[in-house]
Amino acid sequence: MGWMKPTSLDRKNFFNHKGREVHKGKTSNLFPSRSLMTFVFNKRRKRRIMNPIETILQKYPAMILDGALATELERRGADLNDSLWSAKLLIENPELIRQVHHDYFAAGADCAITASYQASLEGFMRRGLSKNEAIALIQKSVQIAAQARDEFWREETNQNGRPRPFVAASVGPYGAYLADGSEYRGEYGLSQSELEQFHRPRMEALIAAGADMLACETIPCLIEAQAIVNVLKEFPNVSAWISFSAKDDVHISDGERLADCAAWLDSFPQVAAVGVNCTAPQYISSLIREARHATNKPILVYPNSGETYNAEIKGWDGEACEAFSEQAKQWYESGAQIIGGCCRTTPDDIRAIAEWARA
Ligand SMILES: [Zn+2]
Repeated sequence: MGWMKPTSLDRKNFFNHKGREVHKGKTSNLFPSRSLMTFVFNKRRKRRIMNPIETILQKYPAMILDGALATELERRGADLNDSLWSAKLLIENPELIRQVHHDYFAAGADCAITASYQASLEGFMRRGLSKNEAIALIQKSVQIAAQARDEFWREETNQNGRPRPFVAASVGPYGAYLADGSEYRGEYGLSQSELEQFHRPRMEALIAAGADMLACETIPCLIEAQAIVNVLKEFPNVSAWISFSAKDDVHISDGERLADCAAWLDSFPQVAAVGVNCTAPQYISSLIREARHATNKPILVYPNSGETYNAEIKGWDGEACEAFSEQAKQWYESGAQIIGGCCRTTPDDIRAIAEWARA
């Protein structure tokens, strides 16, 4: 139910944006009633969307994302061969996640993408956790990243020439919960409202935990982006980036054109940026051009290293691309303002991007 605009100022009952009655009583002709004040306050609040990307891009030409979380956790000895992937560490070793976030901040990342990509209520409950325990773990991903950020920023020497980093709560696609690689195909066979039901409780939990914004990533099909945007409208102060996985230089994973998806997203003020992630670097320059013609929103790209994920062996095939950060500079020149790395990228890749982006 949308905002119900009062028909006149002396109307006795007003409703907030969820349609609940907020005040019942007499109105005065001399002073604005409390209900009118609530109305004005809610209207103002509704307009103010927390958008940390906009804040950074007002002062800096580019924003730097972090790199792979799982790759880094594995390099430090974590065993992630599990349907919960890096979310498994939320239970077993949150300290390791905190360290990786810290290292990405130290490398120059302007935000941490939380370890909630594969964390879902269904996934945790399938493991025997209660609903409340599952929500607490999802929220823990935000708390760990915020703790790492606060500790990093407490050191004054870390503050030179860069913005205060923020926490972007990862909202992985439905396919990540299936853990069968379908986030690179997008053929879920679910309706938009079923996808909304899947996404709503986690988005709600991440927002309630204090995430600065949502990072909706590796989305393989437009219908899932539409479901997410619909849920997002229930939290009118919150912004999100929407990032698709792409299969070539024009199309997202399920075959739709990235330009069509970006054009659809362009009209939603809560969508802070549009882009692609977990896609081979070779397609990125072309995809940026596709998106740039379809939207005025900032474009974000955080490709993988160029290796491809093999769901059968739950591992990576192929060779990593050369000189990730040099390619990243070309992406910036092609019009992407928000740049980082996805699977198989490292703090060294992010450090090399920061070297030219913050020079
Ligand atoms: Zn990835």
